[in-house]
Amino acid sequence: MIQQAKDKLHNVFGYDSFRPLQEEAISQVLDKKDALVIMPTGGGKSLIYQIPALVFDGLTIVVSPLISLMKDQVEQLRQFDIPALYLNSSLSEDEYRYNVKRLRNGEVKMLYVAPETLLMPKTRKLLDGMKVDCFTIDEAHCISEWGHDFRPEYRQLTEVRKDFPEAACLALTATATPRVREDIKKVLDFDDSQTYLASFDRKNLLLKVADKDDPLEQVLDFLYTRKKQSGIIYCFSRKQVDELYVELKKEGYAAKPYHAGLSEGVRNRNQELFIRDDINIIVATIAFGMGINKPDVRYVVHYDMPKNIESYYQQIGRAGRDGIRADCLVLFSPSDTQKIRYFINKKEGREKEVAEQHLKSLLGFLETDECRRIPLMAYFGEEYQNDECGMCDNCLTVDAEVEDLTEEAQKFLSCVARTDQQHSEYYVTDVLQGSDTDEIIENGHQNLSTFGIGEDWNREQWILLSRLLVNQNYLEKHESGQLILTDEAQLVLNSKEKVYGLLDRSSAVVDREAAARTTTEVEEKHDEELFNLLRDKRKTIADKNAVAPYAIFPDTTLMEMAYYFPKSNESLMKIYGVGSAKLKHFGKAFLKVITEYCDEHNIEEKQKSLQKKGEPKYSGELHEQIAKAFNDGQSIEHLAEQKGVKPVTILKYLKKYFDEGNDLRAEGIAEAADLSRRKQDQVMKAFDQKGTRMLRAVYDAMDKSVGYNELRVMQLYYQAKNTEK
Ligand code: ADP
Ligand code: ZN
Repeated sequence: MIQQAKDKLHNVFGYDSFRPLQEEAISQVLDKKDALVIMPTGGGKSLIYQIPALVFDGLTIVVSPLISLMKDQVEQLRQFDIPALYLNSSLSEDEYRYNVKRLRNGEVKMLYVAPETLLMPKTRKLLDGMKVDCFTIDEAHCISEWGHDFRPEYRQLTEVRKDFPEAACLALTATATPRVREDIKKVLDFDDSQTYLASFDRKNLLLKVADKDDPLEQVLDFLYTRKKQSGIIYCFSRKQVDELYVELKKEGYAAKPYHAGLSEGVRNRNQELFIRDDINIIVATIAFGMGINKPDVRYVVHYDMPKNIESYYQQIGRAGRDGIRADCLVLFSPSDTQKIRYFINKKEGREKEVAEQHLKSLLGFLETDECRRIPLMAYFGEEYQNDECGMCDNCLTVDAEVEDLTEEAQKFLSCVARTDQQHSEYYVTDVLQGSDTDEIIENGHQNLSTFGIGEDWNREQWILLSRLLVNQNYLEKHESGQLILTDEAQLVLNSKEKVYGLLDRSSAVVDREAAARTTTEVEEKHDEELFNLLRDKRKTIADKNAVAPYAIFPDTTLMEMAYYFPKSNESLMKIYGVGSAKLKHFGKAFLKVITEYCDEHNIEEKQKSLQKKGEPKYSGELHEQIAKAFNDGQSIEHLAEQKGVKPVTILKYLKKYFDEGNDLRAEGIAEAADLSRRKQDQVMKAFDQKGTRMLRAVYDAMDKSVGYNELRVMQLYYQAKNTEK
């Protein structure tokens, strides 16, 4: 039977192979045995009942808590020509009767139903006597009182289940906490052997945390390179949502707000606009997201700190369900922490304890300087097996960017010592900066040797340094705010240990996409222009069919089309997500776009199986070899990895090659600068005005906001670009 399942996977859904645990769970269901499947969002839970449903000759019932989710699934299945329908309170009487008729005629493979509807005597009577092969409970955590969305009707499903003794019972959830898992098993009377627990590591999510210093500016920088992408920005309060929404609109972004203060009508409309790709951005409170199945959400930004790790994980989980890279950014400020502390302090007893524990875990994640996946996975009881993931800001911070901060650290720590470890970072900074505040005069601290020795740095830099010293365990911060030296601090003061770090993480992490790996070659190298044309076509077809664009084809499909350039039905069938039904319905329209584009640009079709070519050989001195490989399209990151050196070293080679009078490809250089696209464009303008000879002039023109290292990269980029033929 599993062979039949594989055939369905290829021919109906157009996928190459099963994802982890899918095959095992599907076999279990096909054997008519019960199964609990716990997989993160985007793991591919739906196929686990959808494929057996196509193999079985009877009906598969799917219990789902939200009308929007049911509609979404049924809409998607219809594009595959799979007869699925739903019964719930949103249907008109006529629609309801029509659906019932089709059910009675045995025309239906999958029935989606809300628990309330299923519990109604008339529904139970309708299903009485029908052959039901699989009884699926989606979002099964709703069974548990410990879960975040407990639904009392879910408990009664155990009763209904008895109506179908022949059916396999399949419970699905993305809820990661062990307590909820146990609860589901208990209520449904499952035992361990039937549980499939997938890893909760979402490998395609790039995790970033940035110091929040000018959040609006940071968000605009972030969005600048993501204008065509869909994303969600979470804020703490409704007021913040409204304000940010207005700002984004002012900047010309297609955004809409979403929070509980808006009427249900407006909320639904905004959500629909987002799903249909009529707008790109939803600015929302935590109220947004439950009923959302959009697979191509490319980023989730936390404008304010999330409430706890669990809700953070749930929210970022809405990004990148399609498996393509998605970026998750948290803007983190200590004053947000104060806000949360304030709410915690209003609580009492056990509740307060739990909240404090949550905050502690969250801070452990936000403040860590090791791989972020380590604390994140640990929270869900999973041990992260690698030291580095290559997909979080900490893993991506290359050594070159880490500064030697020993001298400043010594100044700061000795100032803490001389002020008797009685004060906060603000006070210590005042002393270092030589401000004669009343308090300092009162304490006589204007006479200290450390008074005024820190004038070369600004206030903010000192504060950031103090935070870094706390994180690296040279200082402890007492609850009252005062800073205390640790034993390690002595090592620094005695010059026995050096302090390294990245002081200002605010810009460093916002736009590091150049460094992060993308998941596949197709993702990285597809033809962007054709991809956009295909997207437009998809949108037109989707609107005509009144469905979401992703129900026609997911982005991955379009990317593969824009990479392999299939020109016949046969080649199209090899593309991800193209099965026989979709080929029939949409093949012609998409082939037309592809062939026209290829004719115009003289592009040949690529065979899907012949993907990897051997490494080309380059001759000459090392810097020449590297530059030639770079000119042939290899990225700086890739070359650095291949040669086992840092990206800056590759840049030096490229510069040497260029200075010797050779041509250098401009594309791909600027990415090595740790700058947002917006800043890059500003720097380019400054070079236009000031020329490239005096970096100092450009440095000043940029108000000293861009460091020399970055300017050197941009200088090379500018020069290469201007000598390009
Ligand atoms: P979940 O319900 O676990 O959040 P979905 O079932 O919605 O995840 O699957 C996420 C996406 O991955 C969907 O677009 C789905 O079609 C796709 N998908 C699922 N299984 C596979 C597979 N074996 N190969 C390729 N794509 C898959
Ligand atoms: Zn990492």
